[in-house]
Amino acid sequence: MKLHEYEAKKIFKEYGIPVPESFLIKKWDIPKEVDKDVVLKAQVLVGGRGKAGGIIFANKENFKEKLDELFKKEIKGEKVEKILVEEKLPIKEEYYLSITIDRAKKKPVIIFSTEGGVDIEDVPDEKIIKYYVDVTKPFLPYMCREIVNEAKVDFRIADIIYKLYKIFKDYDATLVEINPLVITEDNKIYAADAVILLDDDAAFRQNYEIFEDYKEKLPFSYVELDGDIAVIGNGAGLTLASMDIIHNLGLKPACFLDIGGGADEERVKLALKKVLENKNVKGIFINILGGITKCDEVAKGIVDVLKEYPNIKFSVRLMGTNEEEGKKILEENGIIYEVSMEEAGKRLLEVINSNK
Ligand code: GDP
Ligand code: MN
Repeated sequence: MKLHEYEAKKIFKEYGIPVPESFLIKKWDIPKEVDKDVVLKAQVLVGGRGKAGGIIFANKENFKEKLDELFKKEIKGEKVEKILVEEKLPIKEEYYLSITIDRAKKKPVIIFSTEGGVDIEDVPDEKIIKYYVDVTKPFLPYMCREIVNEAKVDFRIADIIYKLYKIFKDYDATLVEINPLVITEDNKIYAADAVILLDDDAAFRQNYEIFEDYKEKLPFSYVELDGDIAVIGNGAGLTLASMDIIHNLGLKPACFLDIGGGADEERVKLALKKVLENKNVKGIFINILGGITKCDEVAKGIVDVLKEYPNIKFSVRLMGTNEEEGKKILEENGIIYEVSMEEAGKRLLEVINSNK
């Protein structure tokens, strides 16, 4: 999972890595005034925001206009919902610093270059310093000083490298990146940008729920469409086939929702509730072909939601792993199901055309 810049910078700040003064504005907030030159930074997760128009400068006179302008933009297809407003730094130098895992060497690698502010892929190899970390030994400040000596840059950067490594380790990150790490005209150092990628496989031992980004992340793929029949399947292929069935019946999908492999009762509940948030939905088509997804888990999720919303019109096709257990749960709760998706389609048409 990728964190937004403002969340990554909060962590930097806690660890003592200097970041520019800033505040966050959400789309519907009423902005306060600013009294100096600022940088408006779209909080989107796509890379290369600057080039895509996601970073703009403003001053106290045109601040609100510029905010409006940026909120109206889509940056590489991503809508701008939040903007980080930062004091504008008088930049003298832009460096690059990151820590990631080198999979071939099976070691964390610290990457530093004095050619920052651009894509690191575009920097020639001889301008890049790589320092591989031996995780069997303690990580010590002198190692950071070695990097700084080799790069012939300000000694204060050693301290930033040390703190950045601590973040990398503490949060089980797969990447921490500062591009650019800047030196200002008045000789201060700041992390002007911040990227943190967290390792989803480490979520079990981390407390990632504290991040707003994590709460917003749905555990399935969901695409909202303009029809009125919610389509839920497991696996992208089956979900697409389900949409075809809906089309062939002369109906229009309200969404594509792939609950993914191995969905449990909770995920199924969440999926059903997600589609019910869309007020256009007048019927739900649920198409499950159990593999690693177990039919009984799916059935339990459906039963739970139907208790809360007894009037939803839907049809369900259920077959595969734990099919018998799943069917039994549905039968016990008076829910009709089909084992063929064509039959389930016909059934949905009947249900939504009935006046019950
Ligand atoms: P990215 O395009 O998503 O990587 O966004 P960055 O936050 O890295 O900003 C892109 C570029 O905008 C930087 O490399 C800088 O050249 C410029 N920039 C960002 N903040 C400032 C600032 O405070 N002052 C100045 N002069 N330039 C800035
Ligand atoms: Mn950047």
